[in-house]
Amino acid sequence: MKIIVIGCTHAGTIAATEILKNHPDADVTIYERHNNFSFLSCGIALYLDGQVKRLEDMFYSSPDELRELGATVHDNHDVLKVNAKEHTVQVADMKSGEVFTDTYDKLIMTTGSSVVVPPLFGIDNSRVLLCKNYQQAQAIYNAAQKYHHIAIIGAGYSGTEFAESLSKTGHDVQMFQSRGQILNNYVGKRMSSWAVDLLRDHDITVHLEHRVTAFTGNDDGTLTIETNQGDFQTDVAIVSTGFVPNTSLLRGQVDIEKHGSLLTNKYMQTSDPDIYAAGDCAMVRFNPTGEAAYTPLATNAIRQAMLVAHNVFGNTYPYMGTQATSALKLFGTALATTGLTLEHAQAYGLNAQEVVYDGTWHRNTCHIRIH
Ligand SMILES: Cc1cc2nc3c(=O)[nH]c(=O)nc-3n(C[C@H](O)[C@H](O)[C@H](O)COP(=O)(O)OP(=O)(O)OC[C@H]3O[C@@H](n4cnc5c(N)ncnc54)[C@H](O)[C@@H]3O)c2cc1C
Repeated sequence: MKIIVIGCTHAGTIAATEILKNHPDADVTIYERHNNFSFLSCGIALYLDGQVKRLEDMFYSSPDELRELGATVHDNHDVLKVNAKEHTVQVADMKSGEVFTDTYDKLIMTTGSSVVVPPLFGIDNSRVLLCKNYQQAQAIYNAAQKYHHIAIIGAGYSGTEFAESLSKTGHDVQMFQSRGQILNNYVGKRMSSWAVDLLRDHDITVHLEHRVTAFTGNDDGTLTIETNQGDFQTDVAIVSTGFVPNTSLLRGQVDIEKHGSLLTNKYMQTSDPDIYAAGDCAMVRFNPTGEAAYTPLATNAIRQAMLVAHNVFGNTYPYMGTQATSALKLFGTALATTGLTLEHAQAYGLNAQEVVYDGTWHRNTCHIRIH
């Protein structure tokens, strides 16, 4: 059986590795548009503040390692089209420019997600940076070596982590968040206020309810950030406003959720029985509501890929769903979250209330506040 894997960060690396470990004779071909595999985006913030010395240490696999396991590996190859009916993929070799067609029995879509690029005037200014992959992380690091004033647009997990790291390295950091709270996918208003206070205590300027409307380059090279509440100056802006699934290859060929992610059954099989999906390109079952949700996390990507590696040979291992558990360490204080926030639960129609425990935990060794 010939299996093609498209995309090789977490989901692709794990799917290919697991298949080849359990089925050493399997015919696995990998296409990845970059020349690096398995990049840990969660290490970017650690690299920015110097806890990780080399960004190259943020990989746990490589094209050569997968070749050694027996995969046919095509890095620097971009998949241009998938024809699900014909079981073919059209691929461009990004070095030679050659375009060719390959065939599969089973296809594993692990094309992940990209940073949302808001359609704003000036978003293409060279001082406006995006951050998810290795190349983008390196660009942010280089900019941070050169410039002092850094603005972070979007205060989700990534933006908040970047703000902390860059304030630790002595940068002047401003955050812009269109909502009245930060980390809104993960925590409620009360925990957000606590986190905002913590950021402000460390001299980070947090602009809540500031919607960025444009970026304008100034003659001296600096950047003006226009918002609904006035203009602000910075040297560089990092846009971190969420992720969109990379699924255009399958548009019109399998069932896709209205925001673009692939819908699968519990075996991570799409509506085309020969196409499986794992990671940020797919919806997951969100256990607190029992419904499909988009929660782009490496933890989900890895678990789903493990299952897909078995299920392509016959649907045996269902995905148990997720609570979207995650954690963030902010200036020495851990902030962990699982399931629904109070606001999300109420918006979902649940009769939910909040209880706060503020006290010691584990024989007085640490202080904990539970919401
Ligand atoms: C700053 C930051 C911090 C994060 N921290 C955490 C964390 O602490 N914990 C956590 O669980 N998650 C974290 N995440 C999320 C995590 O990085 C993603 O959930 C994870 O990368 C998803 O892996 P994936 O393999 O599904 O997709 P991706 O990482 O998006 O990889 C998809 C791959 O597919 C390739 N590809 C796409 N289309 C094509 C094509 N047509 N042809 C060839 N190749 C293609 C891409 O080049 C890419 O390499 C973080 C993300 C960021 C940006």
